[in-house]
Amino acid sequence: MKKLKILVSGGGLAGLALAYWLHHHGHEAVVIERAPDLRRDGYGLDFFGTGYDVAERMGIIDALAKTQIFMDKGSGIAFVNEDGKPVAELKTDAVREVLGGKYMGLMHYNLEEVLYDAVKDDVEIRFGTSITAVTQSPESVTVTYENGNRETFDLLVGADGIHSNVRNLVFGPEKEFAFYMGYYLACYFIPDKYQLPATWANYTEPGRQVGAYDTDREGQLATLFLWQAEDEGHIPHDKRAEKIRTAFTDMGWLTSQILDDMPGDGKDILVDTVTQIRMDTWRNGRVVLVGDAAGCMTLISGQGASMAIGGAYVLAEELSQTEDWQQALANFEHRVKPQMDLRQRKAHDFAKQFVPGSELGVKAEMMMMKLVTYHAFSGLLKSQFVGDSFLQTAALHRLPQSNGNFIGYRVAGKLLETDYQTLEMDVDETLQTAESVNLLLQIEELEGVEMRAWSEDWKFGRQYHDKIHKLAVVGDRRLSRWMARLSEPLYAQDAKHFDLAEMDQAWMWLKS
Ligand SMILES: Cc1cc2nc3c(=O)[nH]c(=O)nc-3n(C[C@H](O)[C@H](O)[C@H](O)COP(=O)(O)OP(=O)(O)OC[C@H]3O[C@@H](n4cnc5c(N)ncnc54)[C@H](O)[C@@H]3O)c2cc1C
Repeated sequence: MKKLKILVSGGGLAGLALAYWLHHHGHEAVVIERAPDLRRDGYGLDFFGTGYDVAERMGIIDALAKTQIFMDKGSGIAFVNEDGKPVAELKTDAVREVLGGKYMGLMHYNLEEVLYDAVKDDVEIRFGTSITAVTQSPESVTVTYENGNRETFDLLVGADGIHSNVRNLVFGPEKEFAFYMGYYLACYFIPDKYQLPATWANYTEPGRQVGAYDTDREGQLATLFLWQAEDEGHIPHDKRAEKIRTAFTDMGWLTSQILDDMPGDGKDILVDTVTQIRMDTWRNGRVVLVGDAAGCMTLISGQGASMAIGGAYVLAEELSQTEDWQQALANFEHRVKPQMDLRQRKAHDFAKQFVPGSELGVKAEMMMMKLVTYHAFSGLLKSQFVGDSFLQTAALHRLPQSNGNFIGYRVAGKLLETDYQTLEMDVDETLQTAESVNLLLQIEELEGVEMRAWSEDWKFGRQYHDKIHKLAVVGDRRLSRWMARLSEPLYAQDAKHFDLAEMDQAWMWLKS
C-alpha cells in the first residue's frame, strides 16, 4: 500500500481519531490545530454508539472511564419545576441499559485529551496553526499557512468542526450548507454551591431551558442554556453575557443565581447557533471533510462526537483498503453519509420538542420523560438514540474486487435503510461515468430487511432495474437462489445465481 502524506486540519475529536487510525494503517498524518494548546473549555457529552465502538478498538475505554461524569449513585437527568422539585427523571442506568452498557458521560475536553494521548507520540501535531489557501493539481494538494509558508500533501482533510475553515476555502461559505434548527445554546462553568437534586438538573419554560450538571472537577458545575430565537448568526464575545441575560430574564428555578455566576468578560462563554451542516458531497478532488465539518448533527442528536470519531475511523480504514484514493474517499462517503443523514433527520424531527414552545408542550415533554424510563418504553428511547454502532449494524460491505462499473458487496446482517442508501450512492456515482452497472451480491448471512427499508428496496428496483445490466447473486442458501430468480427483471436486466465456491466464475460472468 502506498504511504500517503495527509494533512488533517483540526485537532478535535475527528482530527485526532483520524490521525490515530491513519498512523495505524501506515499513512503519514500531520495535524494542524488552530488553538494554541489542548482546549480545556467545553461541555459534557453522552458518548455511545459508533464512537464508543471505535474507542474500544483503540483500547482507550479504561482511560475514558476514569474521567466519567454522571457516575454518582442514582445519577441522571432530573427535570425540575420552578421550586427545584424533580417532576421527571431519566436515570443514567436506564440509558446505559438501553445502550447495552456501552455508554459514558464525558467532558468534551477529557475525550479530546485521551485521544491526544493516544496519538501524540506517533503523529506530528502543530498547535496554533491554520491555513489560508488551498490549491490542487492532479498530483497533490498544496496549502498556504497563516505565516505564508506553503506545504504539499497527497490529501487534505477538513476535521475543523462546524465552522470549518477547509469547507469555507474549498467548498464554499458556511451559509450554503447551514440549516438553522431554531435555537441558540450557551455553556459556561460555575462553582457548585447549589446541591442539585441529580447529577444533571434541567428546568424548562416555553421556548427556553437551563440546565446545570456535575463535571469531573470537584466543586465545579457546567451549565447549558438553550433558547428559541431568530438566527442572528455569530454573537461576538463581548455581547454574549447580555444576550443570555436577556433571553433568560425572569426565568424561574435557580436561573437568576446561575446568571449571576456567569464569568465576567464573555471570553469563557460558549455561545453558538444550533445548526446542522448539510452537504451533497464531502469530497472535492484531494480534499475531504469529516465530523462536524461534513455533517454537524447538533447536540439534539446527541451523537456528533460519536459520529465524528466513527467517520474518522471509516475514512482511515477505506484509505487502507485500496491504492485508489479517489475510490477510498467515495467509499468513505457512501458508508458514512447515509448514517449521518439518518441521524440528522431524526434530530430535525425532534428539534421542535427539544425545548417545547408552549406550556402544553412542556407538560407533554415531562410526560414523555416519565414514560421512557419505564421498561416497556425503552424501545422508544433506543429508537430515538439510533444508538448502535453502524460499524456493526451495517449489512453491506463493499468487496475489494469492485472496479469501475463492476460493483460487489458482501451482505451480512439485516439490510437497513442506510444500506440501500449506501448502494444507491455507489450506483448513482458509477452511472455518472458509465451507461450501466454490473452488481455482485455475496450473500453471507441475510437476516432480513428492516421494515423501514422495504420502501428503499422498492425504490431501488424502480430506479435502477434498467440500468443494472447484470446481477450475480452468490451464496449457498436457497434464499440466494430465490433472490437471483426474483431479481430479473425487478432489479436487473439479467440475473444469475452462483454458489459461494463459484465466486471467480461469478465475476467472470459479470465481466463477460
Ligand atoms: C453543548 C453541546 C453538547 C453536545 N452534546 C453531545 C453529546 O451529548 N454527544 C455527542 O456525541 N455529541 C455532542 N455534541 C456534539 C459534539 O461535540 C461534536 O459533534 C463533536 O465535537 C464534533 O467533533 P469534530 O472533531 O468534528 O469537531 P470539534 O470537536 O469541534 O473539533 C474541531 C477542531 O478544529 C479546530 N479548528 C477550527 N478551525 C480551525 C482552523 N482554521 N485550523 C485548524 N484547526 C481548526 C478547533 O479548534 C477544534 O479543535 C455536543 C455539542 C455541543 C455544542
